[in-house]
Amino acid sequence: MDFIPLKLSVTVDYLFRAEESWVLVDTGYAADWPLLRRRLGEAGVSPSDLGFVILTHHHDDHVGCLGALVAENPDIAVVMSRRTEELLLAGRNDTSRGGGLINRRIAFLVRFKRFFVALKTGSLSAKDENLRFEPYAARSRDIVFDGETALSDLGIDSDGILVPTPGHTVDSVSLLFPGGDCLVGDAAADMLAFAGTHHCVIFVMDLALYYESWGLLLSRGARRVFPAHGRPFAATMLERDTGRNSAEDLVGYGGRT
Ligand SMILES: [Zn+2]
Repeated sequence: MDFIPLKLSVTVDYLFRAEESWVLVDTGYAADWPLLRRRLGEAGVSPSDLGFVILTHHHDDHVGCLGALVAENPDIAVVMSRRTEELLLAGRNDTSRGGGLINRRIAFLVRFKRFFVALKTGSLSAKDENLRFEPYAARSRDIVFDGETALSDLGIDSDGILVPTPGHTVDSVSLLFPGGDCLVGDAAADMLAFAGTHHCVIFVMDLALYYESWGLLLSRGARRVFPAHGRPFAATMLERDTGRNSAEDLVGYGGRT
């Protein structure tokens, strides 16, 4: 598959062509909107050219530009799982199901995240928007799916399949293509490796479930992983790194683990 990565402040969105339509995967933080427009422009695509936006999960750094995108292109269909639909209404990342940051080193680095995002986007909001996003209620033209679903069944002219890959969050899904390319959102990552992430994203709700989803992707023929954080990597890394992080090392939000 030919994906065009759109590198934002922290998140990488992906763009691909499905016959007549452009499909965007994820949107970035709300503060990324000018940057997302610029990246789309660099790819020769305007927001009004997008037919679909697929959400890999409900987190603030993936759905932040949704309101702006839909306001500019009301014809776009937002594609989301049933669980994502529910979680988008809350306007806040779900931390009610346990889990935490992957280890102490990451927990330390995350304290500076707000400033890092400000550095990349050029705006430091007055109040801390951390973990929050503008709530979104699915419209009649949006597409809500349950469980494993082929894109063609949703009216998207592509041979990709949406597969639930929970663990990072309860609603995480990946998009798997027949050749083994997969867009995983945060179901795997290549970020802050020096701090011992071992291809895990920095926050994990349920580490055992996270690794189970890696196993699922591998069993379904995943060959090349395109994460929302970091650069693409070979799926064999998932096999190598399974179990390298321990649930005992998770650092919960608010001191909770
Ligand atoms: Zn996430």
